[in-house]
Amino acid sequence: MRVGILGMAGRMGRLLIEEARSAKHEVVGGTLNPASATSAPAGVPVMTLPELAEAVEAVIDFTNAAAVPLHAEVLRTSRAIWVVGTTGLSAMQEEVLASAATCIPVMYAANFGLGINLLAAFARRLGAVLPPETYDAEIVEMHHRQKVDAPSGSALALGRAVAEGRRTTLEAAMDSARNGHAGPRRIGAIGFAALRGGQVVGEHTVLFASEHEHIALTHRALDRRVFAAGAVRAMEWTVGKPPGVYSIDDVLGLRGVQPT
Ligand code: NAD
Repeated sequence: MRVGILGMAGRMGRLLIEEARSAKHEVVGGTLNPASATSAPAGVPVMTLPELAEAVEAVIDFTNAAAVPLHAEVLRTSRAIWVVGTTGLSAMQEEVLASAATCIPVMYAANFGLGINLLAAFARRLGAVLPPETYDAEIVEMHHRQKVDAPSGSALALGRAVAEGRRTTLEAAMDSARNGHAGPRRIGAIGFAALRGGQVVGEHTVLFASEHEHIALTHRALDRRVFAAGAVRAMEWTVGKPPGVYSIDDVLGLRGVQPT
């Protein structure tokens, strides 16, 4: 495929160039942030978004939520697939994205890692079959010392999956603030613990603990390339699809799979 990389000088942008090339796609060009003085990765022409949108079959966008409205405005009149990995979109920015998806296919995922999304599907299934009265669900995650938010977005997504399996909401079940005299464990709670240290890219364990057994599902991301590889695979999946918002669950065949 002929591919364009938005924000190609970013950490993800550079990995996306490598992953797209190693999957035998042609990286036609990329954009840089007009507001910053970054230089382009070697061998990738700098283009404006309108130029790029005309020249490619897909653009991959791991930039900044603030850029979403402009990207949507340009891309909605193109024939390009828009793969969006940017996180932290506001409700308004997600609406803009959905509006562009009435004209073009948009593949949107806050985590393009295939493994962690599969883990969420398993967590949903286990949440559905293991009774909350006897199986306590805990989510343990570890990340590098620079991470500023806790629990991680992926930990929250895993908790949401367990809650969906249990036909409740994460808001109703979440317990993330055990400190001091926290009292006994609430039946049905989904507990969270966040470890921070070193340079851990991301580790998540979903634990179901009963009096007689523990079931633990663990995912370890070894480097950020897993997201770039997942985005390239998701882009390939989107080829030929009608306009609409698609997610990594579609790629994995998990959309519409019921928890029980
Ligand atoms: P980064 O800061 O290293 O890179 C972002 C790049 O985008 C920067 O070079 C920045 O200058 C550029 N940029 C910003 N606005 C732009 C614009 N209007 N036009 C062109 N370029 C623009 O950050 P990163 O670590 O590469 O992450 C980028 C985004 O991807 C973040 O939102 C991050 O949370 C997200 N992310 C998503 C996944 C996933 O699986 N979906 C995985 C990792 C990171």
